[in-house]
Amino acid sequence: MNILVTGGAGYIGSHTVRALQQTKDLIPIVFDNLSTGHEESVPDSVQLVTGDIHDVFFLKHILSEYEIDGVIHFAASSLVGESMTDPAKYYYNNVEGTLHLLIAMHEAGVDNLVFSSTAAVYGEPEKTPIEEDFPTVPTNVYGRTKLQIETMMKDFAMAYEMKYVALRYFNAAGADLDGTIGEDHSPETHLIPLILKTAQGVRDHISIFGTDYPTADGTCLRDYIHVLDLAQAHILAMRHLLQGGEGGAFNLGSEKGFSVREIIDKTKEVTGRDFRVTEEARRAGDPAVLIASSEKIRRVLGWQPEHSSTEEIIASAWKWHQAHPYGYAK
Ligand code: UDP
Repeated sequence: MNILVTGGAGYIGSHTVRALQQTKDLIPIVFDNLSTGHEESVPDSVQLVTGDIHDVFFLKHILSEYEIDGVIHFAASSLVGESMTDPAKYYYNNVEGTLHLLIAMHEAGVDNLVFSSTAAVYGEPEKTPIEEDFPTVPTNVYGRTKLQIETMMKDFAMAYEMKYVALRYFNAAGADLDGTIGEDHSPETHLIPLILKTAQGVRDHISIFGTDYPTADGTCLRDYIHVLDLAQAHILAMRHLLQGGEGGAFNLGSEKGFSVREIIDKTKEVTGRDFRVTEEARRAGDPAVLIASSEKIRRVLGWQPEHSSTEEIIASAWKWHQAHPYGYAK
């Protein structure tokens, strides 16, 4: 079976491409415009098509040319802060880009779609752990674009043959265990890579955004999930659809919350390095606690996390950062 992976040269996409390769029966074809993705992350043995999801005609051509059975869709803009200052970019790339993909899939008769959604669709939850039927009230533009895409997919699924799974990720982190691919965003805004860059001396200090949250140590709690566990979930979701299973939205988290301070302390322990930590005001729009219930994906898809201890997440990311202190840049 041939699987088109849009955004397959990005962080989660590139790990999913590796995982697809290991299945032997699901063959990945990467579709990426390389605006934020890295060509170096695509293995030589995988076909890379450089193209834009806005180009419906080209997409349709690729879907039929490669006899695609299903699409895993990562291609998107994904920086929360930027989404607030440049919403046009986010509605265009995420909502309109996905609409173009959906039209191309519908016209080419490709029915199975696994979509990269986010816990940001929930906004500030009233309680935790968060279940899939909790209210979806995103507090930022990024989350709103992902929620609108989920609505579009639902409408396409009702009207046409199409089926979809939306995977609502909590905090993706970690890297392939061999240290050859990993997280490389520009600019980097995520906690774990920023701490590791500090441990390496590439950055001077790590700032804790907010120490007055209603949590045990006053810093935010997040649910960190290893990118390899995320990658496996995409494969299970695609197999589920290919076998005629019912689609819908699924949370993807480890169901455990760690505070910013706990992650910093764990990083000091794993790397054996000490570094400067400062305290700053809260970052706008950060909920105090985001922890998933992943009961649905365990029950329906048989998924379970295998690499998501904070120890393994940080150790694998550290290996990647040590081998690539400046990311994929030469
Ligand atoms: N955070 C922090 N300092 C940083 C970056 C992030 O204290 O330099 C905090 C942020 O406020 C949040 C947590 O770390 O509580 C995780 O943030 P990240 O951006 O990694 O993921 P998010 O939860 O926003 O998707």
